[in-house]
Amino acid sequence: MKSFNLDLDREERMYIGTYLLERINDYTGNIREVRVSPELDVDAIVQFAQKLSFDHPVGAQEAIDHILEGLIQFQVHTPHPRYFGLYNPRPNDMGIMADTITAAFNPQLAAWSHAPVAVEIENYVLKEIAAKFGYSSETADGTFTTGGAEANLTAVLTALIHHFPSYAKEGLRALKAQPVMYASAESHHSLVKAARSCGLGTDSLRIIPTDSQLRMNVRALQQQIAADRAAGYAPFLIIGTGGTTGSGAIDPIGALADVAEDERLWLHVDAAYGGACVFVPELLEQLHDIRRADSITFDAHKWMSVPMGAGMYLTRHRDILHRAFSISADYMPKEGAGLDRIDPFTHSIQWSRRFIGLKLYLSLATAGWEGYGKVVRQQAEMGERLRQELTRSNWTVVNDTVLPVVCFTDIRVPAESRSKFVSFIYEEVLRSGQAWISIYEMNKEPALRACITNYETTAEDIIALVELLNSVRAKMMN
Ligand SMILES: *Cc1c(COP(=O)(O)O)cnc(C)c1O
Repeated sequence: MKSFNLDLDREERMYIGTYLLERINDYTGNIREVRVSPELDVDAIVQFAQKLSFDHPVGAQEAIDHILEGLIQFQVHTPHPRYFGLYNPRPNDMGIMADTITAAFNPQLAAWSHAPVAVEIENYVLKEIAAKFGYSSETADGTFTTGGAEANLTAVLTALIHHFPSYAKEGLRALKAQPVMYASAESHHSLVKAARSCGLGTDSLRIIPTDSQLRMNVRALQQQIAADRAAGYAPFLIIGTGGTTGSGAIDPIGALADVAEDERLWLHVDAAYGGACVFVPELLEQLHDIRRADSITFDAHKWMSVPMGAGMYLTRHRDILHRAFSISADYMPKEGAGLDRIDPFTHSIQWSRRFIGLKLYLSLATAGWEGYGKVVRQQAEMGERLRQELTRSNWTVVNDTVLPVVCFTDIRVPAESRSKFVSFIYEEVLRSGQAWISIYEMNKEPALRACITNYETTAEDIIALVELLNSVRAKMMN
């Protein structure tokens, strides 16, 4: 029997590769013409997904045409300049190229010796990013993660091991007291999963109330820590958020660092999105004290606009990742054993690892810090522009942040009908296919939420969004 080869022949590969690149070019070039979000016809979508049969294989071009058609028709187009959404960026070209290179060369980053240049590039990028956050290069360490959720899980694990060294071997059961950690009511829910995954249970995550601008209330934090100590719990970790997912609130990091120092707790700052403020001098002030955090979460697949699957965990404790993840496995390559280098599988939750850092490396290598500074500044300006245009059209902005996350409502609508009003506007905007926004509940009242996540979003896009909102509102008022 002739052996089966999973490759295309060389000529077909060139043809299909070029064809695909042209189709991607068409997609990004004409993106303003597609609906920002699809209509959710479940039957049609399931049928589409199951259309190709594995009993009757098709040619490469047919398969690719099928998936491109499906994605164009049935997804929220996060690369669209009028996707005013969650922190999902337009993916940049160098990031797309990097993911292609990573797929083709398939470097295995578990062991240093299998992919030494890839590991060293990741180390270099991590060190540079850590320096932007104010960590000293002597003590900084870090690892690329699949995203913010894995970085937050890593934070909980490392803080646990730092505080309770026996946890690594004997587990939670051997501890005399139940460890507890603190985050605001606006913190990311990946922390709830982290509490479960570490065996702490979700009750161990103490939810601290916020002030009217949704920042953690530091007095309430101190009171909860005192109450927990009095009740025999073992506080170990405070998690501040540097740009909450809902409204872009930035917790008072300096004050949290003071509490953490006084109470001898680990401070983690989840800056998955807002961390990019450190690239711009006028926004840096917001996160100045982040250098005092013991560890940081930062996602490149948010404000740095690389394709998904690129988070980072950074720490100023050089040995903690080793203490949390080192392990020896006989079957792992040993060529690097005599060299003073670290195998990434001993340094993170992951084992087989893709070259996550390449998309950030190639992006930074071509755009530079200056390019990223401009991207962040421009999006912050677009956020400011959106606040102005909304206010001019009698909308009320209800959140207070320098980040381009805008929560708003119309306070002229009677309070008892505002929730219905907000839902109506949201649904009509989505139905129009012209923009994507969401609803976020602020201080128990639903508000509309629009965020700039795309370096292609212009003032015209902002004006178009506000005009759309105005026309939907007029329709409701009539
Ligand atoms: C997005 C986000 C996360 C989760 O990150 P993923 O990359 O989606 O895993 C965590 N924290 C904050 C503040 C976020 O905005």
